Amino acid sequence: MSKELLLVGAGFSGAVIGRELAEAGHKVTVVDARSHIAGNCHTERDAETGVMVHVYGPHIFHTDDQEVWEYVNRFTTFKPYVNRVKTTSKGQVFSLPINLHTINQFFDKTMRPDEAREFIEAQADTSIEDPQTFEEQALRFVGRDLYEAFFKGYTQKQWGCHPSKLPASILKRLPVRFNYNDNYFFHRFQGMPEEGYTKLVEGILDHPNISLHLNTRFEREQVDEYDHVFYSGPLDGFFDNDLGRLGYRTLDFERFTYKGDYQGCAVMNYGEESVPYTRITEHKHFSPWEEHEGSVCYREYSRACEPEDVPYYPIRLVDEKALLAKYVEKARQLDKVTFVGRLGTYRYLDMDVTIREALDTARGFLDRVENSEPV
Ligand code: FAD
Ligand code: UDP
Repeated sequence: MSKELLLVGAGFSGAVIGRELAEAGHKVTVVDARSHIAGNCHTERDAETGVMVHVYGPHIFHTDDQEVWEYVNRFTTFKPYVNRVKTTSKGQVFSLPINLHTINQFFDKTMRPDEAREFIEAQADTSIEDPQTFEEQALRFVGRDLYEAFFKGYTQKQWGCHPSKLPASILKRLPVRFNYNDNYFFHRFQGMPEEGYTKLVEGILDHPNISLHLNTRFEREQVDEYDHVFYSGPLDGFFDNDLGRLGYRTLDFERFTYKGDYQGCAVMNYGEESVPYTRITEHKHFSPWEEHEGSVCYREYSRACEPEDVPYYPIRLVDEKALLAKYVEKARQLDKVTFVGRLGTYRYLDMDVTIREALDTARGFLDRVENSEPV
């Protein structure tokens, strides 16, 4: 029997779950408080330059999950795109993630891979056996000089605290390579949607069983009107923050335009703390197949998230994890609501993981319906 289902949030979580349920014949309502779909992956053309802008920060699609890759390619054309990040430090431009070019340039050498590996091992602090913090991880694997040039200041700006207070897992996201591969990611499939992410999400939401309502904020009382609710808003917000707020970092973007090419690449990081922003993104380089005379860039600043700000990065330190556990317990007691996505589960999730989890959530729900289990 067809169910009445509410999806809170029109980002990838809400759109993908909604699409799967709609295709199975259920009646799906999607609401989003914002005036646009695609959540934080929203892209739109800059009115002045015509450049496709990643409004909430740069988004590059990368995955090893073949099904997810085929899924997104069903709804739009992807163009090849490799994320090659640069960083400015000590008055020079280097390549990231740390690779053989970075190491040779930084230490003014011409080492081969094996020599560089030995050289870096000699820089590393091998007295740290089991690195727990970001700082220990950096000192153990790249040594103090590279840590201080590329990571210490950037991380202090990005997270608002000393790297010794952050978990090693944050740095483990970045590889160190002893070859000249400067691709930021490892994944088999990488690309950029030709017409932007919003067009992709528009395609996912385009189904006769889906009705979409923008500028519509979800209220908790609405749960009673539906057979089930999938909620991709903030977990603590669902409970009116009654146990306190889960901490986030937010970003401020300072837009400026330039006639021509401002920095010659999409992402330029700034490793030093004396520069107040973390990075500058030049958006036309995210669509290298397009030609634009003008250029639009964002200087990106990170700071603590206040209640009225857009939450970006969850701060998962000890206090936040304890509070999270309490909210997760409250959430578990609600049979008719499933908490999904980066805000609903208070995790940093890449787009491909978000889509994978959304597909699995929808399929689990459909199995329960099929087996006449309670939903
Ligand atoms: P969101 O996109 O946040 O969507 C949630 C939606 O719910 C929002 O539109 C919000 O308005 C709506 N909502 C919330 N509460 C309510 C309410 N009460 N009522 C109605 N609507 C509500 N991933 C990558 O794979 N590659 C990248 O390069 C990449 N770069 C990133 C850069 C930054 C700066 C950040 C922060 C993230 C990046 N990500 C990247 C991750 C990516 O943004 C997420 O995977 C994706 O946004 C998760 O989708 P979602 O639907 O779970 O959440
Ligand atoms: N980082 C850094 N310098 C850089 C790039 C990254 O110190 O130039 C650190 C920073 O703490 C960041 C982490 O490495 O949060 C992981 O990098 P990633 O590119 O995954 O950053 P994020 O997705 O957090 O922006």
